[in-house]
Amino acid sequence: MRIKRLLGLLMLMSVLLSLGIPVMVYGYSASGYSIASNTTIEFTMNANFSSLSKAHFLDGVLEWNAKAGRTKNILGRSGSSHHLTQYPQDDGNNYVYRVDMGSNVYAGNTKRYYIGSYITSADININMYLNWANSAQIGCLDTGSVFWHELGHAAGLSESYANGAVMFYQMPVNTVRRTLAQDDINGIQWIY
Ligand SMILES: [Zn+2]
Repeated sequence: MRIKRLLGLLMLMSVLLSLGIPVMVYGYSASGYSIASNTTIEFTMNANFSSLSKAHFLDGVLEWNAKAGRTKNILGRSGSSHHLTQYPQDDGNNYVYRVDMGSNVYAGNTKRYYIGSYITSADININMYLNWANSAQIGCLDTGSVFWHELGHAAGLSESYANGAVMFYQMPVNTVRRTLAQDDINGIQWIY
């Protein structure tokens, strides 16, 4: 069954290639929006995230910045925190929320705000309906891995179809994904 699926994929690729569509369609995709060269999207986190979760968020900020390679950082994390519960708010601030969004929505969500083709601010939510951990745990999502994914959205990336990439459109439970894959790096470097 696995081999059959692989053959199917190869056949699809050859058809698409013959149509002149780049292989890139199997990897990252960009939203068409980017953070302006004079702007850093600096997030303030909900106070109830653990210090370890916050540290993993900062790891993601630093890694996306490093790979974007821009003079002014694209992303940041404020030292302060908040207790807001209404996600999202178009108030010019960048907040990371903890809101229960129920079972039929995403593990994490990012709302971006724009002026023209530029991302001016963003809000991230972590769906507290689900089970969370700060490592690979059965039945739990790794909070940091979802942070890294949502930070990629804040930076302008969309979902990727490269399995194993941070920006892959599905985040499995019991998995830590806090290393940027080549596909993620290609994506952020295409934007910046
Ligand atoms: Zn996503």
